Amino acid sequence: VTPMPDEDGHAGRSTQRLLLTFRDLSPIRRVEEMRVDFVANASHELRTPLAALSGFIETLKGPARNDTAARERFLDIMEAQAKRMARLIDDLLSLSRIELSAHVRPQTPVELLPIIRQVVDALQMLARDRGVTVTVSAPKEPLVVSGDRDELTRVFENLIENALKYGASGKRVEITLSRAFNVSGGEEAVAAVRDYGPGISGEHLPRLTERFYRVDVTESRAQGGTGLGLALVKHIMNRHRGRLNIESRSGEGATFTVRLPMSTGLMPATRKNS
Ligand code: ADP
Repeated sequence: VTPMPDEDGHAGRSTQRLLLTFRDLSPIRRVEEMRVDFVANASHELRTPLAALSGFIETLKGPARNDTAARERFLDIMEAQAKRMARLIDDLLSLSRIELSAHVRPQTPVELLPIIRQVVDALQMLARDRGVTVTVSAPKEPLVVSGDRDELTRVFENLIENALKYGASGKRVEITLSRAFNVSGGEEAVAAVRDYGPGISGEHLPRLTERFYRVDVTESRAQGGTGLGLALVKHIMNRHRGRLNIESRSGEGATFTVRLPMSTGLMPATRKNS
């Protein structure tokens, strides 16, 4: 920023004003740039399956009109592309819904172990296909947090599905629940999803929760990914005043850990009165 002289030619109050303006505008411009990037990325991601669909429709109307075998194959591919578009739109809508309510903290008591077990059951088929054993270990006492059941289910679906998709070569996925204290002494529920797959090298770690960021776009697409899963997890965690921590090294698997304030710790007024 070049300091601007005031009317008398001195770099005085106007310089200060100029600096303040610069500071105020820069975050707004950053948010604006992020929005523009997001719309461009989302459009590109939606255009890819749409282009494939248009191409196959043309072929089916023309050269493949009477080719029954090709028709079946193309219809399967078209179905997969249509599903991909639907998944993308679902994830985009979920993200904007969660962002809209970012300032409202969900307050329903949710016990973590049953939702994790439910997600593991739902993903049993994928685990079997990948030849992966999923283990769950948890303390005896229930871990209850204040939250939104559907959103927390979404968090574990994304983390466990990713461990199965990207960490499959390790043949083992471990989910560990525990309780801990945070730096301010509040009690937290901790859930860690660990896989023993190829892991993620350091330079990618800080960017993994960005929308559409993928270490390998081709692999993500082949796995039916949208690149929005971890962005969703991050936003849900923020809304729940929780945290997501990712630890990984190339060749050493990955651990995704979520920490959520425990329900009892959130209600000191109730405890005081009881
Ligand atoms: P996607 O829809 O591509 O799975 P995510 O936001 O869930 O999107 O994840 C972003 C990227 O992070 C993935 O494309 C993958 O490259 C990487 N990733 C996520 N989980 C793991 C994991 N357990 N092991 C290795 N890489 C992972």
